[in-house]
Amino acid sequence: VNDLPEWEGPYYKLLSKNDSGEASGHQSGVVIPKSFDPYMPDLSQYSGIAPSVSISATLVFNGNVVGRVQTRYQYQTWGGDRPPERRITGNLSPLLANSRENDLFLIERNVENDTVFRLSLITSSENTYAQLISTFSGKRWGLLQSASPFVARAEIEMQAKEIEAAATGPFVPFEADAKKSIVTRIARSRAFQKEIARLYPVCAMCGSALRSPKGASELEAAHIISRSSSGTDDPRNGIGLCRAHHWAFDVGLLGITDAGTVMVTHLNILPSNTSLVALHERHLIPPSKTQFRPHIEATRWHLKNVFLN
Ligand SMILES: [Zn+2]
Repeated sequence: VNDLPEWEGPYYKLLSKNDSGEASGHQSGVVIPKSFDPYMPDLSQYSGIAPSVSISATLVFNGNVVGRVQTRYQYQTWGGDRPPERRITGNLSPLLANSRENDLFLIERNVENDTVFRLSLITSSENTYAQLISTFSGKRWGLLQSASPFVARAEIEMQAKEIEAAATGPFVPFEADAKKSIVTRIARSRAFQKEIARLYPVCAMCGSALRSPKGASELEAAHIISRSSSGTDDPRNGIGLCRAHHWAFDVGLLGITDAGTVMVTHLNILPSNTSLVALHERHLIPPSKTQFRPHIEATRWHLKNVFLN
């Protein structure tokens, strides 16, 4: 019941001459219709002539992966002289260099990470093209009929408030979500990630916090009772970990004691895993709001069901 699709979307757009670069004096990149902005990363917190958020994207040209790039979602304000425009721009030439007006541009976003996208171009000569555009009823952009929904920022904020409110009450470790809509489940999952990211600026086990120059963080939000076991999205069932320690925690190489210290499995420590030993008996770095520290019911469940003992 907890399975979510890997991607939201696709949202489609038939390219204009401006997008494909056929128009003279064009800006590079694909213009994003205003109606799709509530689903893209929030730029309202930034100011300046061209505020932008860095996003990573897998580029797919007629079904083949042709690149993995850092691009950005940008708000071009033109100094207020013209109506503002939103674009995905930068490093898209593997897709746009050979594109033409009315080619089909598809946007998908990773359910687990809202700055990870898959951007696809389908040219009008492709077999799938005619079949897809027959479903558009003349509209140049929108959600594909077969698509998973996109979840708006407002929905995620609502879920974040709900999660925070619930976390001031008694801890309920399991949460049946069979009755929730897919939009609610995606929004909840993303709200959980944002909440854990706010609470844990560094890995709670090792203190590491790798960041790219553009600010992308390597840290991940781990469920202590896994989602596949219907673990709750209450932040007390979560912990912020670096990728390596998230992985080691999920496979049971690491656990958390009642005293809030790290426990490393003593079973069959492989030479490749010896770096973990230094974590043994370390105190977890607490979250910024200490009342949201990992709940003992969750850490005990993990020790009993996941930790290798
Ligand atoms: Zn770590």
